[in-house]
Amino acid sequence: MRQFSYVTNRTLVNKAGKESGRMRVMVKVGSTQAEGDYHCPECGHDGKVSQAFKRPFTIRCGKCNVLIRMPRLKNK
Ligand SMILES: [Zn+2]
Repeated sequence: MRQFSYVTNRTLVNKAGKESGRMRVMVKVGSTQAEGDYHCPECGHDGKVSQAFKRPFTIRCGKCNVLIRMPRLKNK
């Protein structure tokens, strides 16, 4: 069983203001690597997240290259 220091599941709003995407991110205990997946709010692409975790947390869609910003990131 894996343990995480940070887990989040966010709804993402596209440029038209519609909630059309999501992002799920987890950080393992003792790690600075964020892992998870996303559904791009702009193009609908489903992709993986695997990168260093830092705030503000942003990813780039692997398909349409849009910058996706995680909203209201909080400490747990
Ligand atoms: Zn996209």
